[in-house]
Amino acid sequence: MSTRRNFLRGMVAASGAAVAAGAAKPAAARETRQRPPEALGLLFDATLCVGCKACVAACKQANDNPAEFSTVDRLWDTPLDTSAHTFNLIKMYRSGTMQTKDAEENGYAFMKTSCMHCADPSCVSACPVSAMTKNPENGVVEYDADACIGCRYCVVACPFGIPKYEYDSPTGKIGKCELCRHRYKDGRYSACAEVCPTGATLFGRSADLLAEAKRRLALKPGETAVFPRGRLRAADEGGVRHAVWREEPDQSYENVVGSYQQHVYGETEYGGTQVLKLSGVPFEKVGMPKLPPEAAAAHSESIQHMLYGGLVMPLAVLGAMTFIARRHVRHDDENEGENRDGR
Ligand code: SF4
Ligand code: SF4
Ligand code: SF4
Repeated sequence: MSTRRNFLRGMVAASGAAVAAGAAKPAAARETRQRPPEALGLLFDATLCVGCKACVAACKQANDNPAEFSTVDRLWDTPLDTSAHTFNLIKMYRSGTMQTKDAEENGYAFMKTSCMHCADPSCVSACPVSAMTKNPENGVVEYDADACIGCRYCVVACPFGIPKYEYDSPTGKIGKCELCRHRYKDGRYSACAEVCPTGATLFGRSADLLAEAKRRLALKPGETAVFPRGRLRAADEGGVRHAVWREEPDQSYENVVGSYQQHVYGETEYGGTQVLKLSGVPFEKVGMPKLPPEAAAAHSESIQHMLYGGLVMPLAVLGAMTFIARRHVRHDDENEGENRDGR
């Protein structure tokens, strides 16, 4: 019996020492990963959005998603939030009399809700089976339903509340925007951008979209300027880089410049995102969270590697289990002793 006790004591001591050694070496966060140079994304300009929701319908059609109803008449697709079957939603901001579009006070505005295609995505970092992955070339955050085990770690990890689980299916999967990657092989691009009548949702290379966003911020409110629709063609592409995209006739049009918040949402938030946003109303008020410039994945992975890299966490867990087991084992040993004595 004493051999078994000594072994258990040794396990507790060894695991405690390992934990202490791990704790003495705090993990340095790795660098936040950047968007790949050819990252693709969207620019959503809330000042151009008229709330028609054509993009919501086009997204449903492009992804073969069924309608969802929140009204009793069930006449229209009326989802109240994104879901496993609704990857894109236009939400409305309302204030007071709602008289002026894109005004914070007594105004209204629209905001698109869909995956931001983060440069350093938490969903990818959290997924234990690599069902969420980031395409190394275009940076699209892709989902593999066959690899998914339904653990929903990605749901918890995403700071934008994007991945949604299919609770109404016995073999539930995750639903989220994949930037319409299944359409690229046919020379098509994001359905939401393709259908948007005002160019409020624009598809292109993230670097070009960022330059376009900054161009708009430099314009004077009230003046007339040219706005592209559909897909942004990079000025320097020379017809090569985007050879997979169908050539569109020039869809630019003239419009009055709105009053912007002087910030491109997604340029730096959370290490940067490939979907960028402009707004007339402060971003926090239209549902975009205030986030630090570092991705959480950079910190959480460092902690995971510290804990699992030196086998600290497994040893700590084993130690804890051993401690609990030991109490019972001692109890058994004592019983055995008592039984022996009583025999
Ligand atoms: S299609 Fe364009 S204008 Fe219409 S709701 Fe969507 S983003 Fe707004
Ligand atoms: S927005 Fe959420 S689901 Fe989309 S890439 Fe970022 S962490 Fe992943
Ligand atoms: S890129 Fe495609 S999947 Fe994503 S919101 Fe637009 S239409 Fe929907």
